[in-house]
Amino acid sequence: MHVLILGGTAEARRLAELLAADALPGLRVTNSLAGRVAAPRLPSGEARVGGFGGADGLAGWLREHGADLLIDATHPFAGTISHNAARAAATAHVPLLALRRPGWVPVEGDRWHEAGSPEEAAALLPGLGRRVFLTTGRKDLAAFAELRDQWFLVRSVDAPAGPHPARMETLLDRGPFTLDGEREVLRRHRIDVLVTKDSGGAATAPKLTAAREAGLPVVLVRRPPVPAGVRAVAGPEQALRWVRDAHARRPLPDGG
Ligand code: NAP
Repeated sequence: MHVLILGGTAEARRLAELLAADALPGLRVTNSLAGRVAAPRLPSGEARVGGFGGADGLAGWLREHGADLLIDATHPFAGTISHNAARAAATAHVPLLALRRPGWVPVEGDRWHEAGSPEEAAALLPGLGRRVFLTTGRKDLAAFAELRDQWFLVRSVDAPAGPHPARMETLLDRGPFTLDGEREVLRRHRIDVLVTKDSGGAATAPKLTAAREAGLPVVLVRRPPVPAGVRAVAGPEQALRWVRDAHARRPLPDGG
């Protein structure tokens, strides 16, 4: 039985670890990474790196490599690959599960402003602050490139390339982040507004706590929905159960 995990997240790595520890007989796991970051954290087991060439390419890969199950454990904002996964799974008749960590939920004291896109987030900024901590990732910087009155502290794993705000400083780092560290970033750079995607998860949540403590507004970009008809679970343990159930139901090699 061959499982393909579309990864690039902590949850995908955790699922790969759980499957390795579970050691179901005859189970082979391939982890797929897009190849976006220069030095990715590699999951346990086999890995392949790079795009498939759209939904058709992914369907071809599933057939060619005899994949029996597909798990889309990509980041909640990686919308293209999730749509491709849904189309490819349907074409290749491979069961698909989406593993999506839950989004963040505001608590008392939060001053959140929701935006439907990075462009909407950029449009909200002039009314909210001038020293922006921007943590949406380097792909989305173009949306903020026209803002002249704001200064940006951009945090990303690799250095930004392409259109970006004129007044910008870059902080190369990747989570998990600590609350003390986030408090210090806000203080040192005199941040007065935070922009983030609703990525969810604990690794990058301390910035929200630090912003709440400091009374700062937060612009939160909403996540795209899971493609219609795709079953989603919230955690790696549930995805492990899905694989176990499918493994238990698999036809035996002698047809018995
Ligand atoms: P995307 O916009 O949804 O995907 C763009 C293209 O990248 C896809 O069409 C596919 O190329 C390729 N791709 C994406 N994920 C892949 C994977 N796991 N394995 C093989 N190919 C993949 O994705 P993205 O937002 O650029 O994210 C890329 C990767 O970074 C994802 O694996 C995601 O989990 C991770 N990540 C994303 C974010 C974020 O904020 N977007 C944050 C943290 C981590 P083809 O069409 O050629 O197959």
